[in-house]
Amino acid sequence: MILITGGAGYIGSHVVKEIAAAGFDVVILDNLSTGNRVAAEAVRTLLRDYDGAGQIELVIGDCGNESLLDQICRQHPIDAVIHLAAFSEVGESMRDAAKYFSNNTAQSIYLLNSLKRNRVDKLVFSSTAAVYGQPLRNPIPEEHPLQPSNVYGLSKMMIESMLPRYRVNYGLNYISLRYFNAAGADASGLIGEKHRQESHLIPLVILRAMGRRDRFTIFGDDYDTYDGTCLRDYIHVSDLAQAHLLALQALLAGNVRERVYNLGNGRPHSVREVIAAVEQACGRSLTCDIGPRRLGDPSILLASSQRAVDELGWKPQYPHLQNIVDSAWRWHRLENWPES
Ligand code: UDP
Repeated sequence: MILITGGAGYIGSHVVKEIAAAGFDVVILDNLSTGNRVAAEAVRTLLRDYDGAGQIELVIGDCGNESLLDQICRQHPIDAVIHLAAFSEVGESMRDAAKYFSNNTAQSIYLLNSLKRNRVDKLVFSSTAAVYGQPLRNPIPEEHPLQPSNVYGLSKMMIESMLPRYRVNYGLNYISLRYFNAAGADASGLIGEKHRQESHLIPLVILRAMGRRDRFTIFGDDYDTYDGTCLRDYIHVSDLAQAHLLALQALLAGNVRERVYNLGNGRPHSVREVIAAVEQACGRSLTCDIGPRRLGDPSILLASSQRAVDELGWKPQYPHLQNIVDSAWRWHRLENWPES
């Protein structure tokens, strides 16, 4: 059985689907602060079409609640943990650092200590490209120095820097997955990206296109890039989910004991190109404002994911921006979840 923290969130629900579809029973631990109870239900619904899918249980609570974790480990034979629960907004992290240090760093330490106490020795850790900060070169290999330019990246880097000690002292086998820009939605259209307070580019532009927002502001058009806006490496959330399954299988097979993998497509797309892809999906042009740069934003983040391809056998199915945006557009058009 696999414990997935943050499994009711956007990336988490896609990961739960992938892991359960592969036949693993899953316990989701989620405090629903950014996740949605309906996501877990939706995953159960869409797995009805899969032969041999595992069971999914939702436990509501903090990922660092040690007594709750002890209880979960007593009640279920947990083979491995996929730890996704975290806040992930760069802008917010710069305004409210304590929120990120408490939730992403401190809670993760409590989780790690619970794993140690309960002798769970396999962990897939959800990390981020934000650990690199303003890169010295692009595409970024995993050996690139870690110098986060925002608190979100720092909150994740601190946990990454502790994991080798948990390996040496307590035998924890772990894989850190450094996501670049997760986007898009499951092909079923049943799960996708829904945040109470949206801050990410693709959903914001889509909400603008749907008339659910009056404005959309580009954060800076004076970067040293081909059109002046930031370049990012967008990766389909289902491809990210596939990488989690491969990482889990590698840990369970004992093939990997301690490793970090970037997950991106290695293709740069500017904010303006993302807007154009949404215009293409919705069939009309959008007006956007130009605002100041967002604090903590590196100009270019581009992944080298060759290691994941070579060692995990990772093979992204949806590397094209337009496919990613089209799947997100479809999800937003169908979405009717209540707020959790
Ligand atoms: N962005 C923007 N306007 C917005 C939100 C985001 O111009 O309202 C830009 C942001 O500056 C970055 C890119 O879109 O260059 C992706 O931002 P997002 O927050 O989606 O992901 P991040 O790269 O911070 O993980």
